[in-house]
Amino acid sequence: MRCTPEARAAALRDIDERDLRRRRTPAEDGRVNFCSNDYLGLARDPAVAAAMAEAAQRYGSGSGASHLVSGHGAEHEALERELAEFTGRARAVVFSTGYMANLGVLAALADKRDLLLADGLNHASLIDAARLVRSPRNLWYPHADAAAARALLDVHAPAAAAEGGGAFIVTDGVFSMDGDLAPLPALAAAARAHDAWLVVDDAHGIGVVGADGGGCCEHFGLDAQAVPVLIGTFGKALGSFGAFVAGDEDVIELLIQRARSYIYTTALPPAVAAATRRALRIVREEAWRREALQARIAQFREGAARRGLAVMPSTTPIQPLVLGGERAALAASGRLAEAGYRVTAIRPPTVPAGTARLRITLSAAHTPQQVEGLLAALDAAMREVAA
Ligand code: PMP
Repeated sequence: MRCTPEARAAALRDIDERDLRRRRTPAEDGRVNFCSNDYLGLARDPAVAAAMAEAAQRYGSGSGASHLVSGHGAEHEALERELAEFTGRARAVVFSTGYMANLGVLAALADKRDLLLADGLNHASLIDAARLVRSPRNLWYPHADAAAARALLDVHAPAAAAEGGGAFIVTDGVFSMDGDLAPLPALAAAARAHDAWLVVDDAHGIGVVGADGGGCCEHFGLDAQAVPVLIGTFGKALGSFGAFVAGDEDVIELLIQRARSYIYTTALPPAVAAATRRALRIVREEAWRREALQARIAQFREGAARRGLAVMPSTTPIQPLVLGGERAALAASGRLAEAGYRVTAIRPPTVPAGTARLRITLSAAHTPQQVEGLLAALDAAMREVAA
């Protein structure tokens, strides 16, 4: 883009003409929020907030430096130990965001000789991470198609190996915009057949999926051998901010030594680590939150089916309703806003062209009445948009 006022105005006009302008509206607008990732209601939990406040009183507001300089403290250490135990992995390392964790994992473990195989609907941060590796063998397979991933591995992994490279299968655990689960057992089998890495970003599974909230690996019973690199984030079910990677000793040590998005950034504030520790304890001790969430999911799906609302087949709190066009999704979101519900329209490039949608998310903090209200408002909005 040229550095002229006209070029900037034209770029913005182009965004508007395609109905792709995104707007930030204050989160505290009084509407019932049905699009956050606060699945267990921990982002506003008094105990988590108190843990953060107490740690801030004790340690201050910031970590003051990167982990490898002087920013790594007792709260980070304790959180990493607890995450390793929670995920059943030997070790964990805390990153400042999930986006950075994903960039760091591939940058630290992969290089140009490696084959990178990604699910076609992976999160943007995994796509960017693969781009950073700059391997000529950066391929994707159709969404959730483990047989296609296996076929690509069969063809391309030997060529990578001939050049001294390895292979990676990289996937979301729960897909962020569709809510479905990756076929992890089949992907793990394919990876095993080729000594390939299986890298799972379980940002939307940790705390929610699995009997004890251990995420997709717990749900499918996959250990560190099957899934050697497990990524989770704190900004979703755990209600705080930041991320982690769990794996064996050497995987984590390699990340600490080589992940540039770990090394060259300020460590998470200790108070955020303390809040996350408290949230993790709640995830482990308060199964009723997952039960309440499951009840809301069942209520929503049953109510949607009764009203003929074609929500995608998802068992997770992510319950998308695809409208197709950007304008229709925006109009439906606007109707819901007028009715008192916040459900942001998700448009390309976050989702593929022609699949703009309402990404409805449920939380243990929602009441049955709120879910009923949303269903009625959705029903009305969809009729109006279709008319
Ligand atoms: N992975 C997935 C699947 C996500 O949905 C997100 C956040 N939307 C991230 C990673 C990034 O995490 P963070 O917000 O901590 O950067």
